[in-house]
Amino acid sequence: MKRREPEQTAAAITRVRQIYAEVAERRIERNCVRLQTCCHFKLTGRTPFLTRGEALVAAKAMRATGRKRLPEDNDGACPLLERPTGNCLIYLDRPFGCRTHFCTVAGGPYARREVADLIQRLEKVDADLGGNGASALPHALEQALKQIR
Ligand code: SF4
Repeated sequence: MKRREPEQTAAAITRVRQIYAEVAERRIERNCVRLQTCCHFKLTGRTPFLTRGEALVAAKAMRATGRKRLPEDNDGACPLLERPTGNCLIYLDRPFGCRTHFCTVAGGPYARREVADLIQRLEKVDADLGGNGASALPHALEQALKQIR
């Protein structure tokens, strides 16, 4: 029988998913055509940072694909980028940075003031989970995978 997440973890996941739903409702115009350039961290020189709640959501979504571990190969791309297809494995649960930090072609990142309230809520979830701020996606995900069933 599949065990349930501890209450605090489950509540954090729900809160983060609500924040993601709200960012989608902001309708700030961008034209992302999923070129996936931003998923190649080595190429862009930028790695998304995840708060603890975001990392739990990403880890849970990754587990739901049947994967237990991050890929071994370190080619400088996001570990959640499916190598054969080039698609994001967890697109519906992708982190906040992946939803708000668009490349120049897509229209550029959201201004902080447009989403500052949502960032504060993510930080609050992080603090409630005992976190001390966001960390780089690979590290944050690795840690969260230890917590997610
Ligand atoms: S989580 Fe998905 S959208 Fe975000 S960088 Fe990784 S592969 Fe790209």
